[in-house]
Amino acid sequence: MITIALSKGRIFDETLPLLKAAGITIRENPETSRKLILNTNKRDVRVIIVRASDVPTYVQYGAADLGVAGKDVLDEQGGQGLYQPVDLKIAACRMMVAVQNGYDYQRAVKQGARLKVATKYVQTAREHFTAKGVHVDLIKLYGSMELAPLVGLADAIVDLVSSGGTLKANNLKAVEEIAPVSARLIVNQAALKLKRGAIQPLLDAIARAVA
Ligand code: ADP
Ligand code: MG
Repeated sequence: MITIALSKGRIFDETLPLLKAAGITIRENPETSRKLILNTNKRDVRVIIVRASDVPTYVQYGAADLGVAGKDVLDEQGGQGLYQPVDLKIAACRMMVAVQNGYDYQRAVKQGARLKVATKYVQTAREHFTAKGVHVDLIKLYGSMELAPLVGLADAIVDLVSSGGTLKANNLKAVEEIAPVSARLIVNQAALKLKRGAIQPLLDAIARAVA
């Protein structure tokens, strides 16, 4: 049995065509079904639905053989012990610093001010500001980061931006790019050795579909 860990939403939707190119179709829709284990057209391949930030954990422990995880999540958690053979080039966006319109970020940074930064990505933000020599107080949030500068919780946020529509709708602007982000195929290293016959053709087909 090959188990593939996916998260609902963008990553699931954009992974479907890649799996299809590898001959795998999923029978249920996770948006309407409450099932967390989904069958596929192949008897020996199943998909499990987990939170995006939990995908590396399932693959690291071997509860899933493969998974699809955003580079944002892999950078934040370190991605230890995971083989990352393919940039799937899906769920593309950028990790950015954003502030409220009218806030002079460049000046605050130059003057050596101590910035309050709210984010779900505490490690990523810490590394970024440490490398710049900027002092920050990090405030961990789990969602709706855009709200933090508007109500005085933080001076800046670190979050994923794609179109910029959410920032704009909340009177925020992106002021700095930290890293480009896309989703990666991740593989449990022991599973690759033990089940190479089943896994390698899948990796090859997915890599061909991306290219
Ligand atoms: P959750 O709600 O479980 O915290 P999301 O559904 O917001 O996670 O995001 C899941 C993954 O989708 C992220 O880890 C990231 O890789 C990708 N992603 C998130 N936001 C965007 C975006 N605006 N554009 C493209 N990809 C995104
Ligand atoms: Mg979300």
